[in-house]
Amino acid sequence: MLPDSGLAATDPDVQAAISGEETRQESNLEMIASENHVSEAVLEAQGSVLTNKYAEGYPGSRYYGGCEHVDTVEQLAIDRAKELFGADHANVQPHSGTQANMGVYFAMLDPGDRILSLDLTHGGHLSHGHHVNFSGQYYEVEQYGVDPETGYIDYDELADHAERFDPDLIVSGSSAYPREFDYERIGEVADTVDAYHLADIAHVTGLIAGGVHANPVGDADFVTASTHKTIRAGRGGMILTTEEHAEAIDKAIFPGAQGGPLMHNIAGKAVGFGEALTDEFSEYAEQVVANANALADVFTDRGLSLVSGGTDKHLLLVDLRDSHPSVTGKDAEERLESVGITVNKNTVPGESRSPFVTSGIRVGTPALTTRGFTESEIEQVGQYIVDLLDDPDDDDLAEEVSLEVDRLCAEHPIYD
Ligand SMILES: *Cc1c(COP(=O)(O)O)cnc(C)c1O
Repeated sequence: MLPDSGLAATDPDVQAAISGEETRQESNLEMIASENHVSEAVLEAQGSVLTNKYAEGYPGSRYYGGCEHVDTVEQLAIDRAKELFGADHANVQPHSGTQANMGVYFAMLDPGDRILSLDLTHGGHLSHGHHVNFSGQYYEVEQYGVDPETGYIDYDELADHAERFDPDLIVSGSSAYPREFDYERIGEVADTVDAYHLADIAHVTGLIAGGVHANPVGDADFVTASTHKTIRAGRGGMILTTEEHAEAIDKAIFPGAQGGPLMHNIAGKAVGFGEALTDEFSEYAEQVVANANALADVFTDRGLSLVSGGTDKHLLLVDLRDSHPSVTGKDAEERLESVGITVNKNTVPGESRSPFVTSGIRVGTPALTTRGFTESEIEQVGQYIVDLLDDPDDDDLAEEVSLEVDRLCAEHPIYD
């Protein structure tokens, strides 16, 4: 028999940590650009009995019996993903965005093949070929970057680089580049050098699903996504592709890179994608970007430098070197955390400090927008952030902002 009491009685230590995290989320302003809050419905799906089920294979073709209900769930996730993005084929099994990228590399490349992707310090991701990640160890990787003057990707340079390097795969997409990618242009470059084009939309899945950003489906052979950043479908990954590559992708994920799919997470994806198909979600995605622009205006007015001068999306990358040369990204992260504003330190283009210190912070609006923040609240938070950077030793100021953070959180509960 299973213990029949709830978590609090069965395992008070874990329960206390979960409660602590819930309180932390409710009582802090979450401005890490890759985080968000899912609905109660997604939480319920992810915490369901589907975690008990093995379902190696795909709907209608499994290696285990008893899959009729998980087949329904996975098919709903697939159908909704295809509808959201207008894709021919969706694989919703990748456990994370990194596993989605691994699936594409594993399907289409051999070890030693060449990948051209965005430099990590210019906003790229570890799984795009960084040497500490498998992608940098198994493939030959070169990177393109942003124009040091404008902070925008230098597409002419990218095209020249592709001609010189002759990659097998070009990756578009980023973790910290504040501008929209020109997927069409990168698709053309990829065609010219006979490379595949992978658009990694991990950060902007929700902005594309909400119709605020251009959709790379059609300009990219593969689109990889995370399902927990700007879209609120719970932790996980996904791959979209054409009919032509569907079978190769499915095989690369299972049995290639993964075993049994996490059916409870796939249920979360189905529910979150269903929510993303509504008009309310499109309004949410628009508000995320409007809020980021409002924040950009406050920062710029108060003298902060933003990489590329602003944003098209849900995040800003603040380069502190001009305005606050003695404040590192790490200092800023700690100072803001002490008053309940959570951001992350981030490298900036031309970075000279270590990734553990950095010269920048990345600030995002998806989670606060989920809590119902609009421009006026975001602008207020922006003013506090700059006040705190300007007067790092003012304890009265910290106390005052901390109380305001408490008030804003109480006015905008996540889960009531
Ligand atoms: C977040 C992110 C991923 C996926 O990350 P996981 O933590 O593995 O889900 C992939 N690519 C980019 C560009 C990202 O920002």
